[in-house]
Amino acid sequence: MENYRYLIIGNSTGGIGTVEGIRAVDPEGPIAVIGEETGPAYARPLISELLSGEKTQEQIFYRPSRFYPDNRVDLFSGTRAEDVDISGKLVRTGDGKTRGWEKLLLAVGGTPIVPEFEGRENPGVFTFTTREDALQIREYLHKRGGGKRVVILGGGLIGLKAAEAFRTRGLEVVMVELQDRVLAPVLDPASSRWLENILSREGISLRFQDTVVRAHTGRTGGFPLSVELKSGDSIPADLLLVAIGVRPRVELARASGLEVDRGIMVNQKMETSAAGIFSCGDAASIGDFFTGTNRPIPVWINAYWGGRVAGMNMAGEDREYEMGMMMNSLRIFGKPVISAGLVNPPAGGGVEVLQGEEKGSRRAFIIRDGRLMGFSILGEIQSAGILAALIRSRAEIGEFRPRLLKPDFNLLDLPRGFRQELREGRWNRSEKSTHV
Ligand SMILES: Cc1cc2nc3c(=O)[nH]c(=O)nc-3n(C[C@H](O)[C@H](O)[C@H](O)COP(=O)(O)OP(=O)(O)OC[C@H]3O[C@@H](n4cnc5c(N)ncnc54)[C@H](O)[C@@H]3O)c2cc1C
Repeated sequence: MENYRYLIIGNSTGGIGTVEGIRAVDPEGPIAVIGEETGPAYARPLISELLSGEKTQEQIFYRPSRFYPDNRVDLFSGTRAEDVDISGKLVRTGDGKTRGWEKLLLAVGGTPIVPEFEGRENPGVFTFTTREDALQIREYLHKRGGGKRVVILGGGLIGLKAAEAFRTRGLEVVMVELQDRVLAPVLDPASSRWLENILSREGISLRFQDTVVRAHTGRTGGFPLSVELKSGDSIPADLLLVAIGVRPRVELARASGLEVDRGIMVNQKMETSAAGIFSCGDAASIGDFFTGTNRPIPVWINAYWGGRVAGMNMAGEDREYEMGMMMNSLRIFGKPVISAGLVNPPAGGGVEVLQGEEKGSRRAFIIRDGRLMGFSILGEIQSAGILAALIRSRAEIGEFRPRLLKPDFNLLDLPRGFRQELREGRWNRSEKSTHV
């Protein structure tokens, strides 16, 4: 049986962040990564470019191919961790092997949510969260001579990226969303509308406050699928993509006795309810920056930095992850979109929204009691890092408030003292030593 000082389950953003966190502290301790998917880690947000044909599999690798040997990591890819024995400090994998560990990390991500509707198992119905999904959809469309029309259920981040990829392939796209706007959890309503104008211009047909109730096979006007909506409409299509979000994969953690709510519960050190076992990323439930209450925050930046902090702690440092804050960043049809913190706060309670548009860019700021709580920016996003630091600092924004709306808002707009704190890395980092 092989024994490792560090064993990581999940070979993606969180797992890689963990390896880099460990190696920043401990250059030698033996590390193994167990990953269910085959091959080296890839940048999950880029599977849409694999689908569109803009990038090859090698071009979406998350790290150069030498990453594992350079970091002295044993990678067991295409291998599923089946069982974690906490008291024996063992992990049993699908290949029948058992591996020992001193410190363990679960970065097992999420599984796509597929609502109950008739025909959800039919050919032509796909989800879109893995490289394999992108390759299978490509192959399916290829067999259909490229296809003509797709229906996407879900107007969130994954649905939008898929929509762009399908448009690049020349397909008609109908997007069906239960809410009354796109990216509802991560944008303020006016910013959603702004983005919807771009989507419509790019040829995406948007259907709000509707959902899929049935996807049945049988030729309709030359299409293999007919997607029936709650509104009663029926859309003939080559393919239905279900993209309504992911659910944390908590099964392994729950079966081994770790504390689980909607995700795997971790503290600020990213340690689970069992000493020496850590978690991060889409699978984890971390303390929210504003409320302190644990919840999953399934965005890339949390996965990487949460993993990095976990790795440093696994290697003996004393670090805390204090950025349990929603922060979304994406580029859609060439337009950068970034949002952070509270973007849809409850009405009242001293909350005001400062918003404006200038030079093809839109900015909205949520301010409570003179402090920045959240923002959405579409277009000129250079200042996003400074703004996120402003939220974390809980500083009053009084003096420079009028400048916030300017697309060229920058460091020089901030008071000198705060600029100095930023330079010292006080607010622009997602990890901090408890001794700072
Ligand atoms: C299409 C798409 C676009 C996205 N775009 C953005 C974006 O623009 N911005 C953004 O912030 N976020 C984006 N995201 C979300 C981002 O990709 C995730 O937040 C991030 O990948 C989470 O990393 P993770 O390591 O926690 O989990 P994952 O990336 O989900 O990886 C978990 C890994 O663990 C493996 N695993 C699970 N169980 C086991 C087991 N028992 N044994 C072995 N291995 C196991 C899985 O197979 C998987 O490889 C996007 C996601 C998708 C799907």
